[in-house]
Amino acid sequence: MNKEDVKQNNLKTDAFRFIDRNKEEIAKIGDAVFYFAELGMQEFRTSEYTVNALRQAGFDVEIGISGIPPAWMATWGSGKPVIGVHCEGDALPNCSQVSGMTGEKPVIEGGAPGHEEGHNANMAVMIGGAVAVKNVMEKENIKGTIKLYFAPAEEQNIPRPYFLRDGYFDGVEAIFHPHVASDLSTTYGIRQFANISVEFIFHGKSAHSAVAPWLARDALDAITLMDVGWGLMRQHLEPSQRSHRVITNGGDQPNVIPSYTKVWWWFRDKNTDLTNAIFEKAKKIAEGAAIMTGCTYETNIISTCWPTRANQAMAEIIQRNIQMVGLPQWSEDEEALARELQKKTHVPVVGLQKEIKLLKEARQNTSCNDSGCVSWVIPTGRINLPANFPGYSPHTWAAGVPLATTIAHKGEVHGAKVLAASMLDLFMDEELLNRIKEVFRNEIGDTKYFSILPKDQKPPVDLNRNEMEKWRPMMEKFYIKEKVQWS
Ligand SMILES: [Zn+2]
Repeated sequence: MNKEDVKQNNLKTDAFRFIDRNKEEIAKIGDAVFYFAELGMQEFRTSEYTVNALRQAGFDVEIGISGIPPAWMATWGSGKPVIGVHCEGDALPNCSQVSGMTGEKPVIEGGAPGHEEGHNANMAVMIGGAVAVKNVMEKENIKGTIKLYFAPAEEQNIPRPYFLRDGYFDGVEAIFHPHVASDLSTTYGIRQFANISVEFIFHGKSAHSAVAPWLARDALDAITLMDVGWGLMRQHLEPSQRSHRVITNGGDQPNVIPSYTKVWWWFRDKNTDLTNAIFEKAKKIAEGAAIMTGCTYETNIISTCWPTRANQAMAEIIQRNIQMVGLPQWSEDEEALARELQKKTHVPVVGLQKEIKLLKEARQNTSCNDSGCVSWVIPTGRINLPANFPGYSPHTWAAGVPLATTIAHKGEVHGAKVLAASMLDLFMDEELLNRIKEVFRNEIGDTKYFSILPKDQKPPVDLNRNEMEKWRPMMEKFYIKEKVQWS
């Protein structure tokens, strides 16, 4: 090991000490976000709590970026290099689950929102890791800028294309995306699918359904015909495509023929061109449905994202730091909890992660994340953190169980350490950063990112508002009130 490596290792050890000393504060962030359990675009408590933690640590925070009220960008330091971290913190509808219990039991009965994937742990890792790095940089007089981003409504794939469009990522040279998983790991290559999330709105003409239906133009019929048309079209689409919809406005009551209806579609495929092509076909089907029913239609793009990709050079750095940090030492109780959940959800009963996986190229899966757009513009490193149990299925009750237990707390600490060490590598080693950029240029080749968002598109800030307002008063008694106090 040369002198530079020794210095870098000492800095990392210093960051790890900070994280260990503050592990209860890091867990507090994860738990607070778990109990806020806010739906996308309505993460106001999550935002307020995390902004406080960052301001307390000395970060400047701009709240409401891109016109998204709970979104924020936090900055510390000055000059180059500029290293970023971004993550999500939203919960899911009807996914309330008591943490630590090995049976299905909501915190609040009747369909309340809850965390059943683990975005709460992402927030703990991003903030814990970055504050540790800031602490070391300040002490050692290391120059550079840390930029953190809270991206609301990841479950609807919304915010990051807006942040990109509005210039919030400008100047960031490399960026990390920590995300909950069941193992401490990383990967590289293309990981997920592209997506277009779009509303089709049909306008017809209302009439009394019994007295004078012949005067009407039924906007719900238009949705039905679009459904039939798309159903037949499916056979002629690439097998890789995924398209699914919900009718978010199907009319009010049967005796009034609906003049206004809305169907929300998601179109996904392996790449942006294929996704765009499906969207064009869907517009034709909608046009046909509108002609057949005498209606008109318009579209409202809610979000679009490119497939997520991860940079190989960054993955190699993250992998080395995973080896350095090692896996959490799981207790017997934690093992027993994981095994019980695995048994109940009929997946292999293997307990928690005990071996570090080898670094491998990702296999592209059909899910999407709006962080995909960022990953085609800035070299991106993905950090999977072990805050859930192997075999868990996101968005189901069992996935909510570990998320405010010591399993998640340990996963958060280890994730934060890997993040901190990897950020320090980039701050300390200009050559490494240059190599990352070069690898990125080769990976991207001729592909030039463009946004599918219309230029003047506004983010859907009212999304989930009514639902969240309904539940919030009942959820407040579970909120964690204690603020984060770094030491
Ligand atoms: Zn997610």
